[in-house]
Amino acid sequence: MYFDTHAHLNFPAFTKDRDKLIKECLEKDFWMINVGTNFFTSQKAIEIAQNNNEGVYASVGLHPINLDTGLTRMKIDDDETDEKENPFESEFNYKEYEKIALDKKVVAIGEIGLDYYWKPKTKTKIEKFKEFQNVLFRQQVKLAKELDLPIIIHCRMAHDDLIVILKYLTTIYGPEFKGVIHCFTGTWKQAESYMRMGFHIGFNGIIFKFNQGDIIKKIPLEKVLLETDCPYLLPPDYKKKINDPMGVGYVAKEIAKIRNISLKQVADQTSQNAKSLFVPWLASLNKIEK
Ligand SMILES: [Zn+2]
Repeated sequence: MYFDTHAHLNFPAFTKDRDKLIKECLEKDFWMINVGTNFFTSQKAIEIAQNNNEGVYASVGLHPINLDTGLTRMKIDDDETDEKENPFESEFNYKEYEKIALDKKVVAIGEIGLDYYWKPKTKTKIEKFKEFQNVLFRQQVKLAKELDLPIIIHCRMAHDDLIVILKYLTTIYGPEFKGVIHCFTGTWKQAESYMRMGFHIGFNGIIFKFNQGDIIKKIPLEKVLLETDCPYLLPPDYKKKINDPMGVGYVAKEIAKIRNISLKQVADQTSQNAKSLFVPWLASLNKIEK
């Protein structure tokens, strides 16, 4: 089996063939977590998980790109939002997110994190902008800690700041986090800092664009999670129009090639990692069976 730990079948890009696609994934033993980016997409992820059996899960959270800081114009991809809905939220509504996160198919809080791609131009505005994202992130880590859920972290052009914030948070919550740094494009040193704090590292089709070979070779396989970030980051050999959870197979194949190990070893270990992190009750059931 394979476990796509970061999919977005909750996005409108999949409205037409979502049900068919999920059926095919489950038949071929590809499990998935559909990850929320705002309140709408989080609710949609839960609805999809509720309509399906084991193997389809949801994560809820407010992505930093979806936070309207009033300081800069952010752009959200058309694939992500229904034109009827405002994708932006001006603050994190802790109570509302907490309510939906209590659903038993919700296995994580995310995606949350820092994204400096659309940062404003002036120095004072940049500082305020970063502070908004910092506060938003810490509110959601608090929610995850309170519900004892792992966190799915998105980080673009902000790894150094993220590590500082996480280190600070270890003084409040203790030295170990449960979670993943998704779509990792940082350095080995940064990967080490994250792993020391308990995090897994998520790899997807971005490894075909950015050379992450040295990190993929060195990293303990027990720390690796597979993901697609579909509909984005289509692996070059996957002959589809847009990516979907079965695209993780190509990421696994590339990792197996780089590490010179079998595809089965990558698939088995990363699935076990994902189960232990996100659905630990199932991971322990499997161990008893063996
Ligand atoms: Zn994503």
